[in-house]
Amino acid sequence: MKIWLDGTLRDAEGARVSVLDHGLTVGDGVFETLKAVHGQAFALTRHLDRLAVSARGLGLPEPDLDEVRRACEAVLTANPMPYGRLRITYTGGLSPLGSDRGTAGPTLVVALGEAQRLPDSTAVVTVPWVRNERGALTGLKSTSYAENVMALARAHERGASEALFGNTVGALCEGTGSNVFVVLDGALYTPPLASGCLAGITRALVAEWAGAEEAELPLDVLDRADEVFLTSTLRDVQGVHAIDGRLLPGAPGPVTAKARRIFTERAAADPDP
Ligand code: PLP
Repeated sequence: MKIWLDGTLRDAEGARVSVLDHGLTVGDGVFETLKAVHGQAFALTRHLDRLAVSARGLGLPEPDLDEVRRACEAVLTANPMPYGRLRITYTGGLSPLGSDRGTAGPTLVVALGEAQRLPDSTAVVTVPWVRNERGALTGLKSTSYAENVMALARAHERGASEALFGNTVGALCEGTGSNVFVVLDGALYTPPLASGCLAGITRALVAEWAGAEEAELPLDVLDRADEVFLTSTLRDVQGVHAIDGRLLPGAPGPVTAKARRIFTERAAADPDP
């Protein structure tokens, strides 16, 4: 396996980042996860743009997006596989111990791993922890993901594959690695970015292509929704068939199935929408 580090392709085995890298010591970094189908990354331009937005948000040096694009292409070419997960990590770099960033410059790593296609529907749980919709990291894809790791572990303990967060005002927000959509009386809704959710790339495409409206939704909308589905890079559109152990009969329902079909068709027609 070849990865990209410090401006060049290297064997993953021998590639090393300093133990003093700010990404490791304080979670000072941003990242992107892309889907790669037969060596073709999906929505690369949108992912690069979001990487830059996240980096700017953290005050990291502006990433050289031409280099990141070249790095992605080099890693994809060097590691042929049918279905993969391409990961870009961009951190504060080698720094003194503590929260001040060093002057060595950022670390850029691009790596690829095999991925699995996920089932059409899944079980989710809600967690009592909240997303702070006014937090400094809100909306940025930062590597400070410990809260998501904790919530996802809780989901797995309960036989689910995703955990959903509310926010500080009791509104539905997002999953640990996904955005959420609900169907109410035949209409499709997803929480607005002001809820504190990530500007998911799949979310934006599904909202545009399948015609969803943004709406602040109370958490208990999950008890009333006709259908619920998740979107993310590796899930595409994934129906929800159980919430906190309560079964949703007939999931994935017709609106979910239609959104999934539209997404699959449009994504196949244009790999960089
Ligand atoms: N929300 C969070 C917290 C995520 O980590 C992700 C996944 O990357 C998403 C939403 C979905 O975003 P995307 O569709 O860009 O993968």
